[in-house]
Amino acid sequence: MDTIVMKFGGSSVADNERLKLVANKIIDMYNKDKNIVVVLSAQGKTTDNLISEALELSKNTKDREMDMLLSSGEQISIAKLSILLNEMGYKSISLTGWQAGILTSNTNQNAIIKNIDTTRILKELEDRKIVIIAGFQGFNENLDITTLGRGGSDTSAVAIAAALNAKECYIFSDVDGVYTADPNKIENAKKLSALSYSEMMEISSEGAKVLHNRCAEIGDKFKIPIITKSTFNNKAGTIITDIIEENTIKSIVKKDVSRVSIIGNGIIRNVDFIKGIIDIVTEYKLEMLEFNVSESKISIDFKNLIDKEILERFHSIIL
Ligand code: ADP
Ligand code: ASP
Ligand code: MG
Repeated sequence: MDTIVMKFGGSSVADNERLKLVANKIIDMYNKDKNIVVVLSAQGKTTDNLISEALELSKNTKDREMDMLLSSGEQISIAKLSILLNEMGYKSISLTGWQAGILTSNTNQNAIIKNIDTTRILKELEDRKIVIIAGFQGFNENLDITTLGRGGSDTSAVAIAAALNAKECYIFSDVDGVYTADPNKIENAKKLSALSYSEMMEISSEGAKVLHNRCAEIGDKFKIPIITKSTFNNKAGTIITDIIEENTIKSIVKKDVSRVSIIGNGIIRNVDFIKGIIDIVTEYKLEMLEFNVSESKISIDFKNLIDKEILERFHSIIL
């Protein structure tokens, strides 16, 4: 039987109503005769709130203690979902990072997954249970709880999918895929139906929040197809896989006020496109501090702020 990993982010599990939506999506997949492993984030703004509360207590928080605190958010969401699924008549079990065997490096607050001992997960799947694992957390060799960095549940999900040799890893969030730019910032951003792992790695590392930066790297290494979809509609999402490389510009990312990155395999050979960028730079009299071109990315550091209007102009040439 195929194993499917389904990850739901903070906005997808924010309250009981949304947990019911999530439960129904899981049940649909389970009823297609799949082994289901679910990875959850903390509910809504829980992690942000825990950080603020800790900072009210001390400006000098210890990373170990922060991990102890922040990991509690995911523990709440997994327990609630398991309570709900059991109530709906589906056998399920929630597991923390250490119960799921997720061994990480020692680096609190920014740990890297070193190994996943899947014994417990496999045992529960054999009993046809839906296994619900806390994202973003693991344990280190000192048996301390660690976390993987903000947004790290995506990486937990793909790493678990790799360890289980899962068929697919679904990442559900409030957007129905990866867009040519952040759809909450650029109105006419377009959804991409497919992306290569390397393109997704560039997009994440340039700061687009849609997927955590290490997750496409793990997907690539273990060849796990990653499918991003919305929790709130059934539209087709974006598949991130080893697609045949085509030379189209895929996405634009604004990392901070003055850095713009444009990603797409073969961008270096697209001379017309590079000319289009220079035209915009000339039109707005933008002062560049750095202009870097590689096989799949152009990133430009500007001296001054890049506002929404300029970003939209850059975006218009990739459509
Ligand atoms: P979750 O909490 O489910 O992990 P995130 O908030 O981390 O979800 O990621 C989804 C958000 O990523 C979207 O709401 C969107 O604003 C943002 N985002 C940034 N860049 C992109 C992009 N290129 N395509 C889609 N979403 C993007
Ligand atoms: N709850 C964590 C965060 O808010 C991890 C995640 O959502 O992926 O960063
Ligand atoms: Mg996220």
